[in-house]
Amino acid sequence: MKGVLATDRRGMRELGAEEMVGWDEVTQGVVLPSFDQAIGNAAFLKPEERPYSDFSSYTATVASWRVIRPVYNRDICIDCQNCWVWCPDASIISRDKQMLGIDYDHCKGCGVCVEVCPTNPKSLLMFAETETIEEALAKWPEKKKKEK
Ligand code: SF4
Ligand code: SF4
Repeated sequence: MKGVLATDRRGMRELGAEEMVGWDEVTQGVVLPSFDQAIGNAAFLKPEERPYSDFSSYTATVASWRVIRPVYNRDICIDCQNCWVWCPDASIISRDKQMLGIDYDHCKGCGVCVEVCPTNPKSLLMFAETETIEEALAKWPEKKKKEK
C-alpha cells in the first residue's frame, strides 16, 4: 500500500476502465445515472434484478479501499437487523428479515455494523483483510460475564 495515492487510477485499472474519467476528473454538476433505463419501482426489485448502469457503485466494486473487514458469525446473530439499518453502504445482505452475510464487493470496512450489533459476544467483528473467514471464526471471543 505504501506510496499508493487515491488519484493513481488504481481502481480504474482494476475495473478495466482506463478510458473513463476518474471520480476526481468529473465535471462538477454532471449527472451519472444509476440505471440504464427509466425505472419507477426500484424499491420493489431485488438488487440483482435492477438494471444498474456502469456508473453505479453496485456495478463497480470499491472494496479495494478496505484494510479490515467485518466477519459475520451466524451462530450468535439474533437477526435484529441493526447492522442492515445502519450500514452506510447497504452492504449487509438480508432477506425476509434474516441476516445472510456481507457484500464484500461494496463494504468499506468502516465498522459501523460491529458497533451497533447488540449480541454478547458480537455477531460481527472486524478482522484484518488478510485473515480468512475460518481463521476469524476460530478466534471468536467468549460471552462476557456481567461485572458484579
Ligand atoms: S463495515 Fe461498514 S460498510 Fe462494511 S458492512 Fe459494516 S457498516 Fe457496512
Ligand atoms: S446487528 Fe448483529 S445480531 Fe443484529 S442482525 Fe446484525 S449481526 Fe445479527
